[in-house]
Amino acid sequence: MTQSKQYDYIIIGNGLAGFQLALAISQDPYFNNKQIALIDRSLKTQNDKTWSFWEKGTGKWDSIVSKSWNEALVFTRKKELSLKLTPYTYKTIHALDFYTKAKEILEEKLNFSFIIEDVLSVENSIHPKVLTTKNSYVARHIFDSRVTEDYFSKFNNYTKIIQHFKGWIIETDLPVFNTDQFTMMDYRLKDGDQTTFTYVLPLSSTRALVEFTYFTPTLVDEATYDSYIKQYISSLLKIDNYTIVETESGSIPMTNFPFEKYSTKHITKIGTAGGWVKGSTGYSFKHSEKKVATIITNLKGNNCPSKNLFKQKYKFYDKIFLKVLHDENDKGEWIFEQFYAKNSVEAMFKFLDEESTLIEELKIMKSLFSLAFIKAFFKTL
Ligand SMILES: Cc1cc2nc3c(=O)[nH]c(=O)nc-3n(C[C@H](O)[C@H](O)[C@H](O)COP(=O)(O)OP(=O)(O)OC[C@H]3O[C@@H](n4cnc5c(N)ncnc54)[C@H](O)[C@@H]3O)c2cc1C
Repeated sequence: MTQSKQYDYIIIGNGLAGFQLALAISQDPYFNNKQIALIDRSLKTQNDKTWSFWEKGTGKWDSIVSKSWNEALVFTRKKELSLKLTPYTYKTIHALDFYTKAKEILEEKLNFSFIIEDVLSVENSIHPKVLTTKNSYVARHIFDSRVTEDYFSKFNNYTKIIQHFKGWIIETDLPVFNTDQFTMMDYRLKDGDQTTFTYVLPLSSTRALVEFTYFTPTLVDEATYDSYIKQYISSLLKIDNYTIVETESGSIPMTNFPFEKYSTKHITKIGTAGGWVKGSTGYSFKHSEKKVATIITNLKGNNCPSKNLFKQKYKFYDKIFLKVLHDENDKGEWIFEQFYAKNSVEAMFKFLDEESTLIEELKIMKSLFSLAFIKAFFKTL
């Protein structure tokens, strides 16, 4: 019987979380004598998404940021808000640029091995083992970005909303986009009473991503997204002549499902599979950066890698918000209008970044105070 190849750490998934973790390990001399395997079924040569996030000043991914903005627009049927983001900047990265850069850096490191195989299962034991379609591998610790099947089970009682969307990157002959501002949410075109909006990222004066997004419990068919994107471009952007050069679609869990409970002493679930996507927003780029930093500290301190990854109070806030959105999905437009109109940009971003103080949180709660939230609060208790 052939013996399984051994590593100190195995990272399953060269996606956002896996590569962020691998890069952080590669940059810390503490890990120079550790052997790390990166297993993914994909070569990561396709641009499968666009990641956007906000941060203050310069950041570690600036060399691959394709566009950034200092002003955001929010439209509801009652209000038009223009938000100056300073001291924050909203930045966008093409996933392919991130994968390419990560691979360039990691391929030069002699202690990192790339394995292109499909993972079938992981065995939780003192010497955890990965079984792929071709081989098996053993490690001291495994980081796993595969989402547990339990999440998809119809039998769990967690609040599940899906952030699902389709976007077209369109190009125009004439310069029609204002590249200084992007549209965070536009509720002027909606699918019925549901929480649906359009997100617009002007990538240049002639190119923009126009994405129709749902925060709802169920998916819709392709033709529905396409029809709303088309309507938005003609009736709100007032553009008649354009070419669709790329499309992007996806679905992101917005849920209080306890992904973190699937981590053990020997296996840490990472990324979406580890609950790193913020339940109330679907954003995870910056959260992943922070979780990775905590994992590195834990590994160096001989602690369980998943120690202190979450702040419980934010999980509670997200749970209430998700309950409102689930039970009264028509309230989404009002909630976001209140949130953006009544709070400063700094207070909102600190809250969403899970860095706010109790006073700041109370102010945000006050801005959203309503029967819907009171009901959700008591149901959540
Ligand atoms: C279209 C889209 C756009 C998004 N935009 C944003 C955004 O703008 N800002 C933001 O903060 N968040 C965004 N998100 C949410 C989140 O940041 C991403 O989903 C992010 O990629 C999650 O990182 P991850 O590492 O968990 O998963 P992924 O990046 O999907 O990586 C998982 C990796 O695991 C591999 N894998 C899975 N199963 C196996 C297996 N059995 N064997 C081998 N390999 C396997 C996959 O091939 C993949 O490479 C977006 C999500 C989507 C889907």
